[in-house]
Amino acid sequence: MDRIKVSDLEVFCNHGVYKEENILGQKFLVDAELFLSLRRAGRSDALQDSVSYGDVCRLIDAEMKKQNDKLLERAAERLAEQILLAFPLVERVKIEVKKPWAPVMMHVSYASVSIERGWHTVYVGVGSNMGDRQAYLEEAGDQLSSDAWIRGFRMAKIIETEPYGYLEQDRFLNTVFAFSTLYEPKELLERLQGLEQEAHRERLVHWGPRTLDLDILLYDDIITTEADLVIPHPELTKRLFVLEPLCELNPYGVHPLYRKRFVDYRDALRDDRRSKKSQRHATRL
Ligand code: AMP
Repeated sequence: MDRIKVSDLEVFCNHGVYKEENILGQKFLVDAELFLSLRRAGRSDALQDSVSYGDVCRLIDAEMKKQNDKLLERAAERLAEQILLAFPLVERVKIEVKKPWAPVMMHVSYASVSIERGWHTVYVGVGSNMGDRQAYLEEAGDQLSSDAWIRGFRMAKIIETEPYGYLEQDRFLNTVFAFSTLYEPKELLERLQGLEQEAHRERLVHWGPRTLDLDILLYDDIITTEADLVIPHPELTKRLFVLEPLCELNPYGVHPLYRKRFVDYRDALRDDRRSKKSQRHATRL
């Protein structure tokens, strides 16, 4: 991807674990590499189609001086976050914060921390079958769409569906949320679980009634293998109540593991449902 780079921007400030570093201050050098499409700016020759590296330098300088961090990690994290929030065209950023005078009592060119952060595209499956179902869905949508680490929030049409798994329960309202986020997968899971708890969710029966259920369906194209966060969601291809709203928001999306379009899964499940219905109809006749 195209990039804009600023190298060895010098900032004098006071980060460090030692008290002396906080009092005396020292020189830091910052590298910032911004990933974004520069095609439009390349054709228009207009600064508003790109990011001003002067603005980037001023942001870095101000952010580095704003507070004293103990760790370079913290300073780098703040720089990445502020650049991604301040410049909407930037999709990803690499930051390296170098300490040329690192107090290690030996000669080093510098000690540094380097991180890469960016916006991630996420799809979240949403369901409710207790209480004011629509209000629970909408409240979750309001909370997420007003979160500073979430942008481009979209919500599919809400559909009413039959219960799945445990059948002795009320009908569900389902939808899918799509957005870009700065949350890493585990952080997003915690954020969503916080919303479930706020909705007074009680889990008495597996797949049983719930005020609010939020599942991460997709997170970019990542494939995880940990039991507490399985992405793509393993039930995603089996549930029409997830595929219908997902296909509304992402009609040509492809499953990262099976390389098949979601519309193909949806159409197969629709056909399956239709043939089961006509079989039931035929046995009644
Ligand atoms: P449930 O709310 O019944 O869907 O289950 C929630 C549990 O599933 C939590 O303990 C999560 O850690 C785990 N889990 C695994 N993968 C996911 C995922 N992709 N999205 C949400 N929860 C997940």
